[in-house]
Amino acid sequence: MSSTKSTYEDLLTFVKYEMETSANYQPLIIRALLKSGGKMTALDLSKELMLGNDLEVGKYRSILMRYPKKTLMKRGIIQYDRKSKVFELLARSGEERMIEQIVECCDRELAKWRLAVQRTESSSLRYDLIDEAGGRCQACGALAHNSPLHIDHIVPKDLAKRGRVATADGQRIDVESRENLQVLCETCNCGKRASSRTDFRPSEERLLESLIATLGHAADLGYDVNSMTATAQGRFRSRDHLTAADGHSRVRTRAPTKKRTSGRESR
Ligand SMILES: [Zn+2]
Repeated sequence: MSSTKSTYEDLLTFVKYEMETSANYQPLIIRALLKSGGKMTALDLSKELMLGNDLEVGKYRSILMRYPKKTLMKRGIIQYDRKSKVFELLARSGEERMIEQIVECCDRELAKWRLAVQRTESSSLRYDLIDEAGGRCQACGALAHNSPLHIDHIVPKDLAKRGRVATADGQRIDVESRENLQVLCETCNCGKRASSRTDFRPSEERLLESLIATLGHAADLGYDVNSMTATAQGRFRSRDHLTAADGHSRVRTRAPTKKRTSGRESR
């Protein structure tokens, strides 16, 4: 812990000689605080960081100059003066109280947009989770094409207090955070009681159960399970993956009686 920099001289020394920064955050924060009399809310400081990112601002400038400018000019809402680079709203007269109503309408549109973005983000989280789970139910190993996959809250939402829940190891986390989500097939998810906190994510025991179930399923379908097991072990060995199998007896290999290619390669 360093000493408090209580004078501008101390602060200058810090900025000049001591400030180590790989990003531009620290100088932006200090500059903004100085300019606003020493105090700012977290929201205002976050905006400052965003505005300090020249590349990001440049990106928005090019967006502004393309679509909204063109559209709003065509609709007779704004004009743009190239020389002074100033945008101007063409509506200038009328009852003042209308301004408030217009702003409210814009706010409503923005809220709709935010909701749509959040939905897209949550659908990409869904995709990530299912991808990480190998496209399988984390309880029974069912593939998505056998049973629709759901995203389940390990500690149910109903048990959340102010949006937070306690995990098995006592940590308090956001109920919607990744750590509290698991992929379950429809059957497993419906079987899970509303109050259940079961974490079905893979453990050695569960993976073994799933392996046995998959092999049983393959045998039922008439595949050569021995040959499949040998192929799987060979692939793992080539990835230098199967150290645990050392010393175990090798599975007897023989020519496959039935050769089929599966659609999904193990990754
Ligand atoms: Zn399942």
